[in-house]
Amino acid sequence: MTGMPKDSNVDPKFTKRLCEIVGEKNATDKKHIRYAYSYDLSFVKPKSPDYIVMPTSVEQVQEVMRFANQEKISVTPYTAGTNIGGLCIPENGGILLDMKRMNKILRIDEESHYAVIEPGVSHAQLASELGKFNLRWSWPVGPPSSSVSSNAISHGIGGLSGRYGLNSEEITSMEVVLPTGELVRVGSCAIQEDSWHSCLPLPRVDGLFTGWLGTTGIITKIAIRVHPTPPILKVFTASTEKIAHMGSYLRTLGNYEICDDLTGVSWWLSQVPIPYPYKPKPTEAPEWISFATTFSWTQKEKEAREEIWKMVVDEETKKGSSLKETNYPAEALKARTQLPSQIVGSTKNYTKQAGAGISWPGTFTPVNKWEPVYDKWKEILISRNLSPSVRVTNYRGVHYGMLRAMIPFPKKTPETIENARQAIVECLKVDLDNGGIPYKPPVDFGLEINKRAHPGYVELLKKTKKMLDPNDIMNTGKLAL
Ligand SMILES: Cc1cc2nc3c(=O)[nH]c(=O)nc-3n(C[C@H](O)[C@H](O)[C@H](O)COP(=O)(O)OP(=O)(O)OC[C@H]3O[C@@H](n4cnc5c(N)ncnc54)[C@H](O)[C@@H]3O)c2cc1C
Repeated sequence: MTGMPKDSNVDPKFTKRLCEIVGEKNATDKKHIRYAYSYDLSFVKPKSPDYIVMPTSVEQVQEVMRFANQEKISVTPYTAGTNIGGLCIPENGGILLDMKRMNKILRIDEESHYAVIEPGVSHAQLASELGKFNLRWSWPVGPPSSSVSSNAISHGIGGLSGRYGLNSEEITSMEVVLPTGELVRVGSCAIQEDSWHSCLPLPRVDGLFTGWLGTTGIITKIAIRVHPTPPILKVFTASTEKIAHMGSYLRTLGNYEICDDLTGVSWWLSQVPIPYPYKPKPTEAPEWISFATTFSWTQKEKEAREEIWKMVVDEETKKGSSLKETNYPAEALKARTQLPSQIVGSTKNYTKQAGAGISWPGTFTPVNKWEPVYDKWKEILISRNLSPSVRVTNYRGVHYGMLRAMIPFPKKTPETIENARQAIVECLKVDLDNGGIPYKPPVDFGLEINKRAHPGYVELLKKTKKMLDPNDIMNTGKLAL
């Protein structure tokens, strides 16, 4: 691995104090442990934290934050570090606050369909518990060991986003420790201690902690809506020769709102693993393949969905589309419809051909802009010998959706890392110019966003951040302000 970070400014007095707060076993400044937290899968330059701290209670989190605020030590919140945007790499060293040991499922409300969990609860852990009640969450395609809470506050998406939208839209309450150590609650649990069912109709102050990349507070409890699992799964799979035809199909089918997940992927992304370096697609293979996941309670309901799907195919065929019913590659289909996935979710399947690196331009883009952006991305990525492994997914209807490229690359040399970084940032600029917005943005993306942003918006971000984090200690630098 290149770019081994330089040693840090460890102060043994600080280590001692942190050990007093969380216990000897839960705080360290040992170099080999710090090293493990200094890098992620992305192109972002490694940087070592000075202290690793693993709290086990809310009181400990508060005490760590009071201490860090008083000594002006940076704090980077962390759960599994799988965000692939460098968001847990501590730009200024300081404390890496690993929340993994706060991993209790506190409540599953079978009647009102919500769960209250701590931030260390993983997708795998919650899935096995919810399964007992025939309930589910919108599981991402990412590693099952990653945190449900971190995914939700980062506007993550999963297998139910076609129906319910982003995972952040499913948050119903939160408990948060502010950078200054105060404990706050947002949503119904702020009014009645034991009531976690809804953020509305209160003012949406939960927004102070979603999409902020861990720069405004530490989540210590979160409540999320969960949903029943109908027994009959039917996945419609189709292919097209062109992105334009795929976009049109996804929009038309999206109008009927019958799918939990409605996704198109380029040929390169349908391969497990994604090819690295770029290799041309076989001429006979279609460029775009789609899976549309539906769940039904009865056979009749399933048949009604099949009828709608056939109607959509007819409509598209009349428009001259190249749309065809097609088999999706079996392993990839399983990985994307049986979530949380042990196949795609195991990151090695993404990176295995490339060698350790993976990152993305991940964006929310209006569906009518998918075509021009994809065409440009393809040019950029192929010119740098990277696969145009692109995914498009409708969210909650049709007005916008995900457009992202998942880019494996080798981390063997600084040149291959820089090649991927430049390709990804170039792709991102094209998307921003077409009205897209990147999600979970690395600092390089944040700079591009802020360059284009209304000055009033940037000022509002700065004021809000200052109000919550007066000494600017939380995940410093990540907002690229
Ligand atoms: C191969 C692959 C596929 C993926 N597919 C998807 C996908 O389909 N959908 C998707 O949404 N994501 C996907 N991801 C991204 C990622 O895996 C998920 O978003 C994951 O749930 C993040 O959880 P984590 O525990 O790794 O978070 P981390 O990376 O540890 O943290 C994410 C962010 O949350 C902050 N944070 C962590 N804990 C706290 C806390 N307690 N309080 C405040 N801030 C905190 C961190 O500082 C950071 O900014 C994928 C990743 C990979 C590698």
